[in-house]
Amino acid sequence: METVDDKKSDASAPEEESKSARIIKKILIISVSLLLLFLILSYLVPNYDFFWIVAGRLESYNIEDNTITLKNGAKIIFHNDSYGDLTKIYYENQQHEFKACLIGSKENGNYYVEKIEIPKIFSQGFSSVTAEPCTKEAIISLHSHPYKSCFLSLHDVNGYKFVKDVNKDAIIGTMCESDRFNFYGHEE
Ligand SMILES: [Zn+2]
Repeated sequence: METVDDKKSDASAPEEESKSARIIKKILIISVSLLLLFLILSYLVPNYDFFWIVAGRLESYNIEDNTITLKNGAKIIFHNDSYGDLTKIYYENQQHEFKACLIGSKENGNYYVEKIEIPKIFSQGFSSVTAEPCTKEAIISLHSHPYKSCFLSLHDVNGYKFVKDVNKDAIIGTMCESDRFNFYGHEE
């Protein structure tokens, strides 16, 4: 008897049920689509979530007359044609990333680069480089990025504390074009 009653009540409201089922289906389809879209985007854009966090905060900088002026007004000044040396290294390492230690000091809030040193490099790939840390004489721990990829990765930003431990004034830099850079740590 019970089963018959159930069937009766089920049959009494088929319209309503299919309507709410349609709504649920729609919500499910939208949620799944959004999830898929998010997965595709995070696959296509490395560090997609972090991208948005730093997007507003970090911009890339052009170099003019051996000088980079940062957003906070601080300058990075290359002496002794050290920028020329860096450019040469940049062009010699187009097929993979490289790391360079920019030797110099911070004075009156500005960064002075006197020379470039290449640390011992363990491995280099198109979008990665593993090398020895820079010494305390380095004011900027720099590595290159694939062309026009100026944003620092989460891994890069995490590396800042190690750089700072070696030299409290040191910052991290990336070189994403022969005359374009990005930095992290100068505003800390
Ligand atoms: Zn990087």
